[in-house]
Amino acid sequence: EAENPPTQTQRPEPVNLIMIGMAGSGKTTLMQRMNAYLHERNDAPYVVNLDPAVAKLPFQANIDIRDTVDYKQVMSEYSLGPNGGILTSLNLFATKLDQVMEIVEKRAQSKRYFLYDTPGQIEIFTWSASGTIITNTLAASHPTVVVYVVDTPRSASPATFMSNMMYACSILYKTQLPFLVAFNKTDVVDDAFAREWMADFEAFQRALAAEEDETFMNSLMHSMCLVLDEFYTHLRAVGVSAMTGQGIPDLFAKIDDAVAEYHAEF
Ligand code: GDP
Ligand code: MG
Repeated sequence: EAENPPTQTQRPEPVNLIMIGMAGSGKTTLMQRMNAYLHERNDAPYVVNLDPAVAKLPFQANIDIRDTVDYKQVMSEYSLGPNGGILTSLNLFATKLDQVMEIVEKRAQSKRYFLYDTPGQIEIFTWSASGTIITNTLAASHPTVVVYVVDTPRSASPATFMSNMMYACSILYKTQLPFLVAFNKTDVVDDAFAREWMADFEAFQRALAAEEDETFMNSLMHSMCLVLDEFYTHLRAVGVSAMTGQGIPDLFAKIDDAVAEYHAEF
């Protein structure tokens, strides 16, 4: 009598996704939408909240920094303002990161996607020692993709667009991780203008010159346009709406592309 071989459930390869973006760009809402999308496909992700100051989470987090640190208490204990309170809370959390990572690895044996939401204010995560430690620790554990969330309606002016893209560029060079720009809120403003500006830097320069004084379009701005043009050549970008779910399948397709490319390189 032939025996059935034991069914081997293949463990999907884990991928970390870190949501980064300006305050109000929609990191938390997009993460909720990605979470819902994966649940629908029976591919429930592992969800981590790293924002100690979020009042209400629209998703059920597997790990929540608020269970470890009370940021209001940290503020009063150390006589800090809100930003100092959030930063100190993140530092306190980072001191326990090894324990957190143990829990993540143990409890999530069968997960593919690990979603990490970060504090509302971008610089608290991107320009702090603890943010860097968390990012590097994740990157050392599994392929890690930065999902840079852009508030598309609020980036529709050329100067704002440029500063947001310069910020994205700086995070790419700082983290050196697979990187994806998610133009969010396409239900409000389509991301076609962004694609045009990224594809044709002369069109972007014309838009910039039309908006600003002649004097503003100086040689520094010209050089920055050239830097960004180089940045765009290798950039993965996708238009999404965290509100309606538009573009979410494409977002995951591009995430998987980024991971595949990462594997091809290393
Ligand atoms: P975070 O600070 O980056 O985490 O941003 P939130 O996720 O808290 O979102 C900030 C605001 O933008 C909230 O009022 C959201 O409802 C809104 N928002 C987020 N994503 C979208 C979107 O795709 N479309 C629209 N119309 N609003 C959005
Ligand atoms: Mg948030």
